[in-house]
Amino acid sequence: MAIPQYEGTFVQIEKLSPSVKHFVLELDKEIDFKAGQFVNLMIEHEGQHLMKPYSICSSPGSKKKLELCIKLVESGRFTPSLFQKKVGDKALIRGPFGLFTLDKASKEKLVFIGTGTGITPFRSMIKDLLEKNSETEISLIFGCRYEGELLYKSEFEELAGKFPNFRFFPLVSRPTEEWNGRKGHVQDNFEVIDITQSEVYICGLPIMVEEATKKLLELGMDKAQIHHEKFI
Ligand SMILES: Cc1cc2nc3c(=O)[nH]c(=O)nc-3n(C[C@H](O)[C@H](O)[C@H](O)COP(=O)(O)OP(=O)(O)OC[C@H]3O[C@@H](n4cnc5c(N)ncnc54)[C@H](O)[C@@H]3O)c2cc1C
Repeated sequence: MAIPQYEGTFVQIEKLSPSVKHFVLELDKEIDFKAGQFVNLMIEHEGQHLMKPYSICSSPGSKKKLELCIKLVESGRFTPSLFQKKVGDKALIRGPFGLFTLDKASKEKLVFIGTGTGITPFRSMIKDLLEKNSETEISLIFGCRYEGELLYKSEFEELAGKFPNFRFFPLVSRPTEEWNGRKGHVQDNFEVIDITQSEVYICGLPIMVEEATKKLLELGMDKAQIHHEKFI
């Protein structure tokens, strides 16, 4: 079966931190996807076609506007060209792909663990669940090095204030004196997880996914309760 392809126009590009941008693409037709899935983003740069996978960070309820949250890897092959794109420029989108979705969850509580841009699939999942008035207890453990890197922090704080079933645990590993929240790495903050009753989703760079998984297994979590997506 042919992979669906969409033409996208960048309609909004916003800097979220010194190295991360939020991109909004308006598509030529509606896309159907599940929260947690990713697309292949294709751009043209100096006559070359470049392509990389990105998790969708908008809710599946938004079918003509796709949101992506992408970190600049300065030595990278794709992101330096992408970061030169302006509003009005075009890109091609292929997908959706991926099995990192909520239909696997069988436990009554959901825990999302992410670092950096690993937050992207969880923003989509959390928006989707809350838009559908899900009563599932949802916890988001989100870690970064510095406070300024906590992407969408005020948005998650607002959602946590509005929905009693959503708990948000932001934490930083290199806190300044002003930071009075949680500290350390995500795996240092697992006491908030109900180990027997939770389904856990982890997303980020491979080393973090591996360390967090190891810690959860040590705490007695069953392997079948742990799902992950690695940004390789
Ligand atoms: C399923 C999937 C979903 C992804 N979703 C996202 C997303 O939502 N946002 C996003 O920014 N990236 C995401 N990535 C990573 C993305 O596809 C690219 O690898 C990344 O943008 C670097 O591309 P590049 O060509 O510029 O760098 P490359 O030339 O490929 O250099 C890659 C180097 O950058 C590191 N790297 C890759 N991603 C990151 C990152 N996010 N932060 C820090 N270092 C990184 C790799 O470990 C590697 O060392 C995803 C990857 C996969 C497999």
